[in-house]
Amino acid sequence: MSAETNHPCVILPEEQAPEDMQHCERCELCRQRNRVIWGEGNPQGSLMMILDNPGAREDREGNPFLCGTRETLQLGMREAGMDIHSVYVTYLLKRRPTRAYDKPATRAACLPHLQAQLLQKQPLVLFGFGNVVAEGLFPQKENATVKGLRGSWHEFEGIPMGFTYHPLAVRGRPNLLRFFVEDLKGLRAKWEERAGRGT
Ligand code: SF4
Repeated sequence: MSAETNHPCVILPEEQAPEDMQHCERCELCRQRNRVIWGEGNPQGSLMMILDNPGAREDREGNPFLCGTRETLQLGMREAGMDIHSVYVTYLLKRRPTRAYDKPATRAACLPHLQAQLLQKQPLVLFGFGNVVAEGLFPQKENATVKGLRGSWHEFEGIPMGFTYHPLAVRGRPNLLRFFVEDLKGLRAKWEERAGRGT
């Protein structure tokens, strides 16, 4: 799409984890040797996006790297007219899993980090990507999938929360891009409404 050519993707700055969390060992992912990544983008952003995990931020040589998830997310945001630099992005799990792990135990162990971020940052709107985030944040909800949750607003910790497909799902199935952008436009409208800017 034209927006992609006009605005190359960017590697957003990382927000450092609080000192006492940088070496968190609350779950088995600490043994998978990936570092804790707290979030990226604008730490003061009143829109918080939630991905399943940080994915890869460096290539094998340790050079900063833009993964497919981030590339497609930025493409969708540009198409929806959103400013990439005004948003904060964080993750359900603050470490990237590289092999099988106990999902319920790990999600429960890492959830307090996200809750602490919500308390500290007080975002106006939350937006989750993919089924893992939906299941992780709404384990009691029937049909906690993107299909079941997208298109309407829910609440997490008292904050309005919407959902859309994971950027990698969109990458693998380009026919989803239209719905992805539609959802991001809805998010933008909600965010502007909450910020009192009107649409
Ligand atoms: S995934 Fe979360 S709970 Fe587990 S070690 Fe990393 S920061 Fe701690």
